Amino acid sequence: MVKRVGIIGAGQLGQMLGFAGRNLGVECIFLDPGDNPPAAAAGKVLQYAFDSEEGLAALAARSDVITYEFENVPVDALAKLPAGTVVYPPAAALEHAQDRMVEKTLFENLQIPVPGFRPVDSREDLEKAADELGLPIVLKTRRLGYDGKGQAVVRDRTDMDDAVDALGGSDLIAEQWVPFDREVSAIGARSASGEVAFYPLTQNEHKDGILSVSRAPADADLLEPSARLYIERLLTQLDYVGVLALELFVADDRLLANEFAPRVHNSGHWTIEGSETSQFENHLRAILDMPLGATGMRGEAGMVNLIGRIPDDRSALDSGCCHLHDYGKAPRPGRKLGHVTVVSEERDERDQILEKLANQLNS
Ligand code: AMP
Repeated sequence: MVKRVGIIGAGQLGQMLGFAGRNLGVECIFLDPGDNPPAAAAGKVLQYAFDSEEGLAALAARSDVITYEFENVPVDALAKLPAGTVVYPPAAALEHAQDRMVEKTLFENLQIPVPGFRPVDSREDLEKAADELGLPIVLKTRRLGYDGKGQAVVRDRTDMDDAVDALGGSDLIAEQWVPFDREVSAIGARSASGEVAFYPLTQNEHKDGILSVSRAPADADLLEPSARLYIERLLTQLDYVGVLALELFVADDRLLANEFAPRVHNSGHWTIEGSETSQFENHLRAILDMPLGATGMRGEAGMVNLIGRIPDDRSALDSGCCHLHDYGKAPRPGRKLGHVTVVSEERDERDQILEKLANQLNS
């Protein structure tokens, strides 16, 4: 029998979930207020606001289970779903991911190392945080920050007024600035009956705050056991069902958690061609309580995001070991329009291709 998954949000993550569903005999249906969003290529879109009671009821009526593709789904919206609707990942995961103070406190409680942090609701709080944590500090909004937006680096005390004002004055968090060597992400999945699976650590490079290039496996064998332990603690504590991504800094061969996303993640897009089972398929398997798929590598994998434009000449993006994914979005500066996955037998070859792509995309 065809299983039906209702997805709140119909962006590119929804699109890729919908495509993954086809091979599993799973029909995805979406809720999104936008006109012709990317996921329309993968299934029916119910055009309503995310918190529309009517829209949520219509989605629930057509779904066996509900999930979401972005972490800023209003928690109140989930409460509007008809009684008995199954929603995965659980609302507790959203609540923790939506507020950086709550999130970092959870990490601390689970003994997942984090940079020092303090709540900031005034310039005085920031002064105190600087006394206790030292400078520089990264000041961030507690809610609704993404891709490096909603944050400012405070290098000395003369930066403080501007930083606090620019970020709205209150509901902020001060974090110790981490002089990291690199950034990695750990992606794991847990099914409704508790089966877990992990992908190898992915190494990520950002440009202007937006993910630019990912490589997997990250050259970090010694860090893999700690990353798995941390992600497993989160999955268990949150009674989590679905795919979860944990972003970490590597500093002096230690991992420090930055944030987690209760959803499939941009740094896991390489899994579509680079893993035996993609993160998208495993998310659907997890929430439908099917056995999880194998997460072994199919080679040395990488991914380049296509931001702002996709070159007219697509030949280099979609041949040999390059696989182009075009989300069908209108070009706009800073907008993620697609990505290219690279899978190669050799790490050196993969890196050469990634470099060539990055040069071509920046020319
Ligand atoms: P975030 O929105 O928290 O994911 O931060 C976006 C980017 O800012 C991260 O990927 C890092 O490159 C940088 N960043 C965030 N927090 C810190 C920190 N505490 N120390 C150093 N860099 C940071």
